[in-house]
Amino acid sequence: MRIFAPGVLADRVALITGGATGLGYAIAHEFAMLGAKVVIISRKQENLDKAVAGIKADGGTAIAVQTDVRQYDQVVAAVQAATSTFGGLDILVNSAAGNFYCPTEDMTPNGWRTVVDIDLNGNFLCCKAAFEPLKQSRFQGRIMMIATSNSLTGWPGQSHAAAAKAGIISLSRSLAVEWAKHNIHVNTISPGPIKDTEGVTKIYAQRGLADLQARRVALGRLGESIDVANAAVYLASPGGNFITGADLIVDGGRWLNYIANA
Ligand code: NAP
Repeated sequence: MRIFAPGVLADRVALITGGATGLGYAIAHEFAMLGAKVVIISRKQENLDKAVAGIKADGGTAIAVQTDVRQYDQVVAAVQAATSTFGGLDILVNSAAGNFYCPTEDMTPNGWRTVVDIDLNGNFLCCKAAFEPLKQSRFQGRIMMIATSNSLTGWPGQSHAAAAKAGIISLSRSLAVEWAKHNIHVNTISPGPIKDTEGVTKIYAQRGLADLQARRVALGRLGESIDVANAAVYLASPGGNFITGADLIVDGGRWLNYIANA
């Protein structure tokens, strides 16, 4: 459901990594519907084309730049495309990630490195590349990184992603203080399991665990992509003007439920 006023993100330029699918697309689409000009980046051109077409069909403004967030020159080129096309950059959302279920004793060094490289190092590269234009934002620059509370409790079978996401939360807090003097706000969003996403399909549904996951959420259900998109809009909007260094948990009470009922 659209809950924010039309135009609340008018004149902002937002770059969303992993913005062609899943939660990244939901955020990009909602930002565009609320007036932002969006730049979506990821590796697969066909997904990018489909996402841009979807946003444009609904009346939004979007471009795509094929980018691997592990390649700094590609990330810099994507930021340059944003500033040259739309005149600046106001919001960076880091949603790109890779993950797969694997007990740690079976994990290859390459598997570990790949996930940490995309999820953690990619976040750093995007923040670094976006720093200069975000500093110039007339709306107070915003960075949001998508984490998970599973990183704080530990995540058996996904130790690589959990470690990377814990690193993201730490990176976000360091940058929140370092870049406050430039009026750049840096926060994380920690979603719980969100239905109809690749994350839930791969990690839970394909292993027959989707119903169990839903029961583990205190609210007793999986979340919706729009729940996460609305949290991102809130942080990107003037509603987030005094929020930095926060981890906004959008998980229906899942992580507290684990602890309370352990
Ligand atoms: P998703 O649809 O698979 O989104 C991940 C995106 O990252 C894809 O569009 C993928 O596109 C992109 N990506 C992967 N590697 C990349 C790379 N090296 N360079 C650039 N882009 C890359 O999954 P999702 O479930 O919506 O997850 C989105 C974010 O939310 C992730 O950070 C995830 O950890 C987090 N999260 C999700 C849930 C959930 O319930 N789904 C819960 C908590 C947190 P390409 O393959 O085209 O590159």
